[in-house]
Amino acid sequence: AGRRTDATAAAPRSADRADPTAAVRNLGILAHVDAGKTTVTERILYLTGTTHKRGEVHDGTTVTDFDSQERDRGITIFAAAVSCTWDGHHVNLIDTPGHVDFADEVVRSLRVLDGAVAVFDAVAGVEPQSESVWRLADRFGVPRIAFVNKLDRAGADLDTAVASIRARLHPAPLAVQLPIGSEDGFTGVVDLLRMRALVWPDGGDAVEEGPVPDALREEAATRRRALEEAVAELHPGALEEYCARASVSAPTLAAALRDLTRSGEAVVVLCGSAYRNRGIEPLLDAVVAYLPSPSDVPAVRGTHDGSEQERAADPEAPFAALAFKVNATATGRLTHLRVYSGTIRKGETVWDATAGRTERVGRILRVRADRHAQLDRAVAGDIVAVVGLKSARAGATLCAPDAPLVLEPPTTAEPVVSVA
Ligand code: GDP
Repeated sequence: AGRRTDATAAAPRSADRADPTAAVRNLGILAHVDAGKTTVTERILYLTGTTHKRGEVHDGTTVTDFDSQERDRGITIFAAAVSCTWDGHHVNLIDTPGHVDFADEVVRSLRVLDGAVAVFDAVAGVEPQSESVWRLADRFGVPRIAFVNKLDRAGADLDTAVASIRARLHPAPLAVQLPIGSEDGFTGVVDLLRMRALVWPDGGDAVEEGPVPDALREEAATRRRALEEAVAELHPGALEEYCARASVSAPTLAAALRDLTRSGEAVVVLCGSAYRNRGIEPLLDAVVAYLPSPSDVPAVRGTHDGSEQERAADPEAPFAALAFKVNATATGRLTHLRVYSGTIRKGETVWDATAGRTERVGRILRVRADRHAQLDRAVAGDIVAVVGLKSARAGATLCAPDAPLVLEPPTTAEPVVSVA
């Protein structure tokens, strides 16, 4: 069950394995209420939970599973982020409030994620609230891919949904799939990069791959050409192969799509039905292939005594992290951290630069849906929960005592507005 579809085998992966930070994806799921954020999240956790042994990421740390009693205390439901593993990558799913009304929380969550999946309802298309969250993500420069969900619903249509994204949201939507069947008969997609069919048989758990159905061959070829043309227009240098030979390989096209996603010039659109477990594997492949890792995003900035400093996502650099959520659980006070640079170790003392006091790090936890792991340390790029910090508040900068700085709050061009 849940094997990778290879739909994006195209994108370079070898580097990811060598560099643990490059193998992290800090991901948010943005959606209008009811578009299917919860269902998509659950399906991702289910799918990655059933396959975590295959794709285990090497932490470089000793990992001890929690005992079942601790697991039962339900840390997951309080978690600001849940980690899962897909194709050798740590995917940290960061909870983003669905209501823009929780402005501070939305801003804090957008600040700690490096990329997002925007979920749309295939019948409703772009709705007012998805529009306002989208614009916030624009303002924070969060690269995105889109998932058009509920393709099984009566009246669902991918083309209409893509047209509404094109009409109402800024970056160009580029559909990389063609649905197979519609509404109740929606059974799979054609992957337009590799020109292969991915089908989810009724009652089956796993995706099956095969040739493009005869009836869709012409349509798929037309759409593939249109995709190449759109990419060539947005990213002229990337498809030289295309100009030379009038055909682009899947890896070249995927690399161009990755550049366009990371620069915010385009949004790759995938589709499926989370409810029916269709489309989640290619979505995860696309997250890994197109969205940036912490080492792909600009270094974070901060200040100390009036001087500006930069901290790159380097485990050897001085430690700096942002506490983005704090909550009380039966296990204790959990402080959720995005580590931007350096390494944080169990038992060490860190400096809360915002409050101006030292704190001692108790346990470091990686929260998963199926089990939680205790880590000896966490490195740049990672998102973990720490037990034992007594007073750090959400929004605080934690750093090495001998290299203090306060991470800059995100600058937004306009105030964060809430949309009814
Ligand atoms: P959220 O508010 O964005 O978290 O949305 P939920 O995941 O709670 O989904 C809202 C409703 O849509 C629920 O009743 C889901 O069962 C339903 N839903 C989610 N995904 C799909 C889908 O792919 N197809 C259909 N038909 N319904 C879905």
